[in-house]
Amino acid sequence: MEEKVLIVKYGEIAMRGNNRKLFVNRLVDSIRKNIDEYGDFYVVKEQGRLIVEARGETKAEFDTIIPRVLCIFGILGVAPGIKVTDQSIDNIKEASLKHMKEFFGDKEQSFKVLTKRSNKQYPIVSNEVSAIVGEHIFENMDNLSVDVHNPDVVLTIELRNDAYIYSHYIMGYGGLPYGSSGKAVALLSGGIDSPVAAWLMAKRGVEVSAVYFHSPPYTGERAKQKVEDLARIVSRFTGGMKLYVVHFTELQLYLLESVPEDKLTIFLKRAMMKVAEKIALKEHADGLVTGDSVGQVASQTMQGLNAISAVCNMPVLRPLAGMDKQEIIDIARKIGTFETSILPYEDCCTIFVAKHPETRPKTSVINKIESRLERIDEILEKAFEEMELIEI
Ligand code: ATP
Ligand code: MG
Repeated sequence: MEEKVLIVKYGEIAMRGNNRKLFVNRLVDSIRKNIDEYGDFYVVKEQGRLIVEARGETKAEFDTIIPRVLCIFGILGVAPGIKVTDQSIDNIKEASLKHMKEFFGDKEQSFKVLTKRSNKQYPIVSNEVSAIVGEHIFENMDNLSVDVHNPDVVLTIELRNDAYIYSHYIMGYGGLPYGSSGKAVALLSGGIDSPVAAWLMAKRGVEVSAVYFHSPPYTGERAKQKVEDLARIVSRFTGGMKLYVVHFTELQLYLLESVPEDKLTIFLKRAMMKVAEKIALKEHADGLVTGDSVGQVASQTMQGLNAISAVCNMPVLRPLAGMDKQEIIDIARKIGTFETSILPYEDCCTIFVAKHPETRPKTSVINKIESRLERIDEILEKAFEEMELIEI
């Protein structure tokens, strides 16, 4: 018996120990959830692999579901291939030839066969299986030549509980199953950086909720819509996301009249962190995530980051800290947020920005000035109480 399947590889090293079973089950659930609407698919656990099979009326056309599987964190890659239940060498020969004919019908190419024999009971050793199958394909397909050193195509045969045959391996993102590393709240602006930061932490298995600080009428509905759109794009990888929208106009106007202009951004960012931390406590999350990159702008110097983080009691994860802008942009393009991020809608920091912002704020000085801001707690409390929740 042979059938078309999708072979799913996941990261083994990170999945050692007791968590392994939990991780694998999470992956199975995520795959099921992501492909359910495309037909009657079934996910089977094989040693070190997950196998997606099509049942009933569902034709085994995997093209539509491959992108939905690849965007699941923890998955290293997928290979569309064939599963052979009766692993006699004749069956493997025929299934391999069928697969090669389907994928490389009349294209002139070189190939080799690579056999991996996990099932040590199998009566023929790997090299011999490769040789037998390779010869069979070579004799039956005029367009293919053999090249064992530098082939265009590698046909892989995995001998496990069943045999699996494939020639295309498509890489996923790796990482850890979403939700397996706790929770954090990501500060999501409409820029290029913060969606990438949120995505990177989600990739490491951290369940991410987002918060956006909105300052109408200085920031318009379209700016808010843009953040919502960005959260939706990141959600393709996470299966959903909570987006909190906190109104910050009153706070910004208050800071504008109360603090030295060159330190405005520092106070604003501190206020954002305080509210984000309150949200994190409400969400039972253990950290915050920002898109800061060291040296990128005035507030992202070491002293600036220090003065901002000083108000937080939980870790502030800054996955972009050591990245150059181009590296961040490359990821933004890869995950699909870039085009949305560059839409030209104002953000709250660009409106209230100082001409010559302080680049080396002293935390002690900032603390002192802030302690004199009598209304700040009350304003932040109100903003927190009135925040809006959008379930994405
Ligand atoms: P981004 O590209 O993410 O907007 P940026 O390069 O514009 O970042 P800043 O404006 O200094 O840098 O913001 C630094 C970080 O602070 C952002 O990455 C984001 O995590 C957070 N942040 C800034 N503005 C907002 C906002 N209006 N709402 C939520 N978070 C914000
Ligand atoms: Mg920004």
